[in-house]
Amino acid sequence: MSHRKPGNTMKVLTDLRQILGEQAVLDSQTLSERAAGIWRQSESLSGIALARPDSTEGVSATLAYCYQHGIPVVTQGGLTGLVHGADTSDDALILSLERMNRIETVQPNQRTLTAQAGVKLETVQLAAAEEGLIFPLDLGARGSATIGGNAATNAGGNRVIRYGMMRDMVLGVEAVLADGTIINALNGLIKNNTGYDLKQLFLGSEGTLGVITRLTLRLFEAPKSRHMAFAATDSFAHVKELLRHMDQHLGGGLSAFETLWSNYYTLVTSPPARSRPPLPQHHAYYVLLESQGADVDRDRVLFESALEAALEQGLITDAAIAQSESECQAFWDIRDDVEQVFVGGHAFVFDISLPIDTMEGYVSAVAERLADTPAQQFWVFGHVGDGNLHLAIQIAEGPSDANQRLIEACVYEPLSGCKGAVSAEHGIGLEKKPWLPISRSPEEIRLMKTLKTALDPKSILNPGKVVDP
Ligand code: ZN
Repeated sequence: MSHRKPGNTMKVLTDLRQILGEQAVLDSQTLSERAAGIWRQSESLSGIALARPDSTEGVSATLAYCYQHGIPVVTQGGLTGLVHGADTSDDALILSLERMNRIETVQPNQRTLTAQAGVKLETVQLAAAEEGLIFPLDLGARGSATIGGNAATNAGGNRVIRYGMMRDMVLGVEAVLADGTIINALNGLIKNNTGYDLKQLFLGSEGTLGVITRLTLRLFEAPKSRHMAFAATDSFAHVKELLRHMDQHLGGGLSAFETLWSNYYTLVTSPPARSRPPLPQHHAYYVLLESQGADVDRDRVLFESALEAALEQGLITDAAIAQSESECQAFWDIRDDVEQVFVGGHAFVFDISLPIDTMEGYVSAVAERLADTPAQQFWVFGHVGDGNLHLAIQIAEGPSDANQRLIEACVYEPLSGCKGAVSAEHGIGLEKKPWLPISRSPEEIRLMKTLKTALDPKSILNPGKVVDP
């Protein structure tokens, strides 16, 4: 990779201000007053300048200029990522889509919404709700994360089991290539079988193949009922059986199947966590079940009879059913209180993917390997219905590159034996790049490099992330 360090930062600033307007470009001093990320408030952004175009044409002109001068460009959304996918350097231009924050159309009959990429996820959710529809992607950072960032990282979240990931919810994108070419693939069709699915090149590619500027999203009818329960099981075999059992009985209504290993459940239901345990803390596994449907009374009978049958068949040993919307929310608050893993020490968090039949053996293998490391706590929870576990590992000593590498090896190496993936949701960024070969064959990585070189021949887009050309 050869990035020409721009000889004259002032010239870049002046040129870009001429192209985009004075207010649209922040100098390096001003941009350094911004935090490097939502979770990294003490670190500041760095770059030659920060460009904030308010239109696709502005993004195109910015990229054309950077392409011509060989200036690296890091595109940023809400900065809620977890894998250093939007990290910048002194010689890079930061491209922020924060001023491209308009919802353009909501079409209730077509059930689509078209918006600029800088719109916050929560804003999209609210706009859909006004039409009695939902945009089903949901995650804790909804108030900061942008849909452009969600698309560029193929975000997942808590309802993937029912609606899929971001890749499944985007019908069309408009994206700008490294040289400034605008690709308008903003098609709102559900079925469009006319050759290569170009939008998928940009979804999940973390800003390395193009800059997503606008999206057409798929909306769904809002469910009218929601029923939830915490169920306890005493073996992982029963967790797996329970998943199939609930799916069989709920007729497509199962919308979450979140599993908490015993010690994570205890952590998030004991002080200083705010929640109290809805079930006693001595069980081996806890499953948070959610069913959504169209008829409150009928769905309640269906949900409760499915749970009763699970109890009779011995799949679960206990269950607590949420009696109100606020209790449903309280159940989610238990599952989502991930912050507790950071109380009392530094913790590394992971989002790995693996076949459900390999999960139990995998978790034991990781625990065994951690015994010889500074790890002092190891918690497991996650979207078992999607084959996605989150691991949190707290270490006794302060974080260092050496112990991060050591803990990563304990988590990632056992994945190669079970055909798992080093990332299920968060992406690759810089953090997981060294581990990519665990999940991808040399041939796959070579094809990724071929695509990168074809779309970004000078490698100016988010250089160093995901794969090197
Ligand atoms: Zn997750």
